[in-house]
Amino acid sequence: MGNTLYDALFAPLSGASRGLIRLADGRNITAGAFHDMLARAANALLSLGVGPGDRVAVQIAKTPEALAVYAGAVAAGAVFLPLNTAYAPEEIGYFLGDARPAVFLCDPADEAALAPLAEAAGARILTLDASGGGSFAALMAEASVDLAPVPRRTGDLAAILYTSGTTGRSKGAMLSHGNLLSNAEVLTELWRFTPQDVLLHALPVFHTHGLFVATNVVLAAGAQMIFLPGFDPEAMLRLMPQATTLMGVPTFYTRLLGDPRFTRDLVAHMRLFISGSAPLLEETHRDFETRTGQRILERYGMTETNMSTSNPYKGERRAGTVGLPLPGVELRIMAEGAEVAPGAVGVIEVRGPNVFKGYWQMPEKTREELREDGWFITGDLATRDAGGYVRIVGRAKDLVITGGFNVYPKELELLLDEAPGVLESAVIGLPHPDFGEAVFAVLARRPGAQPDTATVLAGLAGRVARFKQPKAAVVVDDLPRNTMGKVQKNLLRDRYKDWFRA
Ligand code: AMP
Repeated sequence: MGNTLYDALFAPLSGASRGLIRLADGRNITAGAFHDMLARAANALLSLGVGPGDRVAVQIAKTPEALAVYAGAVAAGAVFLPLNTAYAPEEIGYFLGDARPAVFLCDPADEAALAPLAEAAGARILTLDASGGGSFAALMAEASVDLAPVPRRTGDLAAILYTSGTTGRSKGAMLSHGNLLSNAEVLTELWRFTPQDVLLHALPVFHTHGLFVATNVVLAAGAQMIFLPGFDPEAMLRLMPQATTLMGVPTFYTRLLGDPRFTRDLVAHMRLFISGSAPLLEETHRDFETRTGQRILERYGMTETNMSTSNPYKGERRAGTVGLPLPGVELRIMAEGAEVAPGAVGVIEVRGPNVFKGYWQMPEKTREELREDGWFITGDLATRDAGGYVRIVGRAKDLVITGGFNVYPKELELLLDEAPGVLESAVIGLPHPDFGEAVFAVLARRPGAQPDTATVLAGLAGRVARFKQPKAAVVVDDLPRNTMGKVQKNLLRDRYKDWFRA
């Protein structure tokens, strides 16, 4: 018996002299050298007593060694569990207590603070720093490059990724070898990745986008990647000429467009720009096309489902939509127990080999969201147009119910974003003594602009029903976003919660 993910993605690297990872400082790591690195990581984990199904948790910087720990954990039959580098010790304590990993790797600078938490959770703590050093690196250096991968089947777990948990506790999504492999294969084909591709990789590797979509597609295609520690506009502009493709969150694209050096000439050789993890504004899509002559390909997914939809490679990339279900993925839009009519709003449900195995040690949550027949209730609200393109209108939990009427924030945000002086907006519901919830708009100004809230709100009169019109608005410099570029509406709801009650 083999090891599903190792056999498909990592074994082909062994002994290969072709390039795989290019670093900003010009270093190149060949496929064969990376295989040695992952073999050492796997053997180091095995020497620590990591057994099949044991969790290997990490809160470490984005380095080739970090990626080797992911691959090594998979090869060792373990379950890789990356944690956001922004999490504070208290949060780490919760994740370690919940996941009970056998091994936990952190940055040496955090070791003293995190050691008691690891100990309480029964985990061995070792370190890996941003230059690839630390106590785990020392163990890797001593370990053999000869590898006997631990057998794992398609249905066995390869990873647990905690959801960002904007409401309630973060949940650990259990992802199998088969989940990850099926998605990597489908996306590689759909987006036409080949060994000639070089992906500019500036996403974090603790999240599904950078870890699985970007990395696994590069591996499945036999392609290469330029591996940057994060989004740095200077490095992006400097290295773009060496790349053929970019995967980004929408903020990558708005920031690139904000730089006059990002020109049509600079990207004329690029084959593909992909966006996901948060909504790409139609305006950004249009501005990008005007500037570069190319259309961004937007896709949609989530931690629990991997990727579920994508705009086509050939064929129309429709702005403001996330495209069509991926081959092999079923998608339906449901309201009150039935599929909605074309154009009507409902909750997206998906089913397929991409859908996760449930939430780690949360059988009830799993039952609430993952139906017995395999349909997963995503919680994303959407419509589908005549061509079948899916248009996301928001999260179900962001729906505002005011005086008994449903208000979809996205409908208003699209209008508010067009108002003079407004760069973008977030519409939320706030507690209100009469209406239960009242519609409230947070407007991010364009640089140097001073939009007047009364004028902006007056501009909605006659365009949307009165009950949808925000009862009040504020102007801010920026909307709060997490590392994946998602607007954190929970923070806004909290910040303004007493607005109508005071
Ligand atoms: P995460 O689990 O952190 O990847 O977050 C998944 C959520 O991000 C989804 O449930 C959507 O709400 C949102 N999302 C991902 N891709 C898109 C997209 N292209 N457009 C709009 N929302 C998206």
